[in-house]
Amino acid sequence: MAETVDSLLAESRDRLMAAGIEGAALDSRHLVSGLLGLSLAELMTRGRHPVSDADAQRIRTAIQRRAGREPVYRILGEREFYGLTLKLSGETLEPRPDTEMLVDRLIPYARRIAACKGHCRIIDLGTGTGGICLALLASVLDARGLGTDISDEALATASENAKRNGLAERFETLRSKWFEGVGGRFDIVVSNPPYIRSKVIEKLEPEVRLYDPAAALDGGDDGLDAYRAIALHAGRHIEAGGVIGLEIGFDQKQAVAALFVSEGFRLLESAKDFGGNDRVLVFEQDVE
Ligand code: GLN
Repeated sequence: MAETVDSLLAESRDRLMAAGIEGAALDSRHLVSGLLGLSLAELMTRGRHPVSDADAQRIRTAIQRRAGREPVYRILGEREFYGLTLKLSGETLEPRPDTEMLVDRLIPYARRIAACKGHCRIIDLGTGTGGICLALLASVLDARGLGTDISDEALATASENAKRNGLAERFETLRSKWFEGVGGRFDIVVSNPPYIRSKVIEKLEPEVRLYDPAAALDGGDDGLDAYRAIALHAGRHIEAGGVIGLEIGFDQKQAVAALFVSEGFRLLESAKDFGGNDRVLVFEQDVE
């Protein structure tokens, strides 16, 4: 008998449950719908539709990968972030919903600056998929962005994501570690740098530890290496009236704020993620 959407969904869920995957049913729905090119809503109404042998095979291969703890969106190769569809690669952190908060907080600043000056220059340090910068560009039409990364593969992924989302004309990339080799000043400096303490990496769940690139997670002994490097040179790269927006680890608000205050910045605002943890800091240059 031909296989149907429903029979494959049930088989997938059972295999993931047997593999001990939390959220087995939801992951099955995401994988099956993604691989068949259906929305989750369409999936519900097409339960009795037949699935070709080739598609069934692709679904089984994907489920096998998920059973091995590969994250759903790595298997699908792309993920939604702030309304954009972003391609992922092995050298890019998977964009998290919590990081959308950083974009949310920066949009009003970018809009105000663009309205006032007619343009807004953004630099995204450690851009990865390009998601943060591209989401800002999509929301602020007069803005231009530069994404930096130490990984050529990440930069290629970010450029492709710019193209896919119709933002290539306003987005450039530069191979660089934080501000090294960066010239000029920017209205918005933004980064979601690696901030996990090196020792903690091995304790992260396999989906993160095995599949997110270590370079995008490992913030050194105290998790603050990247913030130190950014804070040290930020003053030379920020325009008057500009802001710095950073994602931080849940327990790093005081330490990161102290680093930037000691370099002449003032904490303008902070925001919490969906779990109620401190996750975003915004600084401006202290003019006094
Ligand atoms: N938020 C990521 C995690 O929870 C870490 C991302 C980062 O280091 N910037 O694993």
